[in-house]
Amino acid sequence: MNPVSIIIKKRDGEQLSREEIRYFIDGYTKGDIPDYQAAAWLMAIYLRGMSQVETTELTMAMAESGEMLNLSSTLGFTVDKHSSGGVGDKTSLIVLPLVVACGVPVAKMSGRGLEFSGGTLDKMESIRGFNVELSRESFVEHVRKYGIVLAGQTADLAPADGKLYALRDVTGTVQSKPLIASSIMSKKIAAGADAIVLDVKVGSGAFMPTIEEARELAQIMVDIGVGAGRKVTALLSDMNQPLGHAVGNALEIREVIETLRGSGPPDLVDHCLVVAGHMLRLAGRSQTKDLSDILPLLRDKLVSGEAWAIFRTMVEAQGGDVSQVDNPDRLPTAPVIRTVASPEEGAITRIDARQVGLTALELGAGRRKKGDPIDHAVGVVVHHKVGDRVKRGDPLVTIHARREDQAREAEERLLSAHSWAEHAEPLPLFYDTIFSDDRVP
Ligand code: URA
Repeated sequence: MNPVSIIIKKRDGEQLSREEIRYFIDGYTKGDIPDYQAAAWLMAIYLRGMSQVETTELTMAMAESGEMLNLSSTLGFTVDKHSSGGVGDKTSLIVLPLVVACGVPVAKMSGRGLEFSGGTLDKMESIRGFNVELSRESFVEHVRKYGIVLAGQTADLAPADGKLYALRDVTGTVQSKPLIASSIMSKKIAAGADAIVLDVKVGSGAFMPTIEEARELAQIMVDIGVGAGRKVTALLSDMNQPLGHAVGNALEIREVIETLRGSGPPDLVDHCLVVAGHMLRLAGRSQTKDLSDILPLLRDKLVSGEAWAIFRTMVEAQGGDVSQVDNPDRLPTAPVIRTVASPEEGAITRIDARQVGLTALELGAGRRKKGDPIDHAVGVVVHHKVGDRVKRGDPLVTIHARREDQAREAEERLLSAHSWAEHAEPLPLFYDTIFSDDRVP
């Protein structure tokens, strides 16, 4: 076996065996297979796809590239969640403390930004000192002690995903169902949660542009999870416009803090309550699929500040500067802040999430090549949601930039990301839900 023959086999559209997939993943994780061969292999998978059997083999090879945690022996039942990636998607940072406030521990392995979509780890690193690189021992120790931990892939945990993820980000190979499914599910399986809620985004700011494609991705992941003995619920949620208002690392942390202090944007709050509700349902805390028996309690945990206190504890426990979350003015701030007025009067029919995400990326909130530093301060605040009415001259977006020329370019792009008409309906938050417990055995 050698890497070139495996690349050629996939390039020619053939099915790879378990041994070939494991050979490639082991070789890349150990550093025996270089980035250029891994990039060619990823592109072959992107173009040719993988069967469900190959995708499951790839997921398990990636999960087993490091240690596999089993948290249930020490912590009882644990739940986890993961998003397929979106714009302004800061859901995890609100949902995790909410679920923990209801007495269910959460050990979460998150990712960094991918192309136009933001990453939870990058967002949390806006807080000075916050450490996402925890060893296997510290990961387990944190969740045992505080009930909550948030970390990235490490040399111990899902290292193959850590390397492949960074390579996909800069080689045009993100938007592939087998690569997304194996990336997400390998992390979830390695981190040891008994139950997983998948937030599969649909729309212009997602890697799945249509409901049909999102459903297919969701089903692949649900099947992998069930095969690995986990309970899974997959939500298909809207990502045609940014979630909440803020897009960009420190700006999103500010919005998370506002939300945990009880004054978050309604779409973000409602979205988070539903994701948290499904996590609690999988943990046996809700008996209804519509979550009507748990949503009031969750809202209470948000309003009472209990979830906020847990977020603060997590920041402190992982070395973050709590004074910055207590006083968000101390988070990184961009030197150029420009508010753009609406050039039109009417109802907003479109706020193209992908264009907003790409604008934030161009401002410096994401990476162009592997290992690029990111600028935590920059980004965009979108002041409205689709369906809102605006007058000419009302604030439309606020750009946070490093330089004036970048702010000018961002302004043009953001204006063309908006459309207006006489009338517009708001977008739904969710399109569908897939429950692994609906599967016929
Ligand atoms: N999140 C991940 O962890 N991986 C992907 O490929 C996309 C979103």
